[in-house]
Amino acid sequence: MIVFSWGFADFGSVESASLSGVNRSEGGLVLLLFGPPGSGKGTQSGKISQWLGIPAISTGDMLREEIKAGSALGNAAKAIMSGGGLVSDDLVNRMLAQRVSAPDCAHGFLLDGYPRTVEQAEYLDRVLNEQHLESPIVLHLDVPMDALVGRLTSRRQCPQCKRIYNLLHQPPKTPGICDDDGAPLITRKDDSEEVVGERIRTYDEVTRPVLAYYQDRKYHQIRGDRSPGYIFEAITGILEPVIAKNGSSCCSKAVRPDNP
Ligand code: AMP
Repeated sequence: MIVFSWGFADFGSVESASLSGVNRSEGGLVLLLFGPPGSGKGTQSGKISQWLGIPAISTGDMLREEIKAGSALGNAAKAIMSGGGLVSDDLVNRMLAQRVSAPDCAHGFLLDGYPRTVEQAEYLDRVLNEQHLESPIVLHLDVPMDALVGRLTSRRQCPQCKRIYNLLHQPPKTPGICDDDGAPLITRKDDSEEVVGERIRTYDEVTRPVLAYYQDRKYHQIRGDRSPGYIFEAITGILEPVIAKNGSSCCSKAVRPDNP
């Protein structure tokens, strides 16, 4: 995980965040996983990233790393995140531009939790344009609002590998311990019942309108109230024809997993 520990004065422009030395390839795939908090974006982003061999970039994870590192950005974000609000577009946009200009994003990447405002969506278009990357494919995980609070408050996460569990539907084999690396699982501070309500309200009021921005573009709505395996099958069903048609350079070795 890259931690951006520069001060605010170090933020560059979109232009300066683009690394001119990186060879951006035609046909790279840019995916946006869109959906309310608790819709399963984190679970699916791990599966897609593994399948296609492209990095999954979660702005929420990046901000949490900044907080852990005690950076200026982390300090600015901390109180906002623990209250369930949105970190300012300016801070998140610059962090994002810096990240996607890294060499591992040259053949495409997946965004989880960005853009969350119309201004971020417009900014992303400018970044992609500058980096000669395709316009994004939006995968919208649609979950009924009344299912979200229970999903979020029963969520646990491995702080090391970031794998997400749900105590109701996908518990770890040993209670409280990550199946993959044995680390003790944590509950995210903003998954408490008080903060969850505010996060859902913020999604409804500020983030949901972003869908209108993408409605006439490469937009796919997927039922998010199904099992993770079912949702992943739906996603591979959408993306496989795109990959086959574009010959996307990121995905030449993509093999559909037997056991999603
Ligand atoms: P997430 O892990 O995606 O649920 O994000 C956790 C928190 O990080 C959110 O509730 C926001 O406070 C902040 N955050 C993450 N991504 C963004 C973004 N794109 N814009 C603004 N704030 C963000």
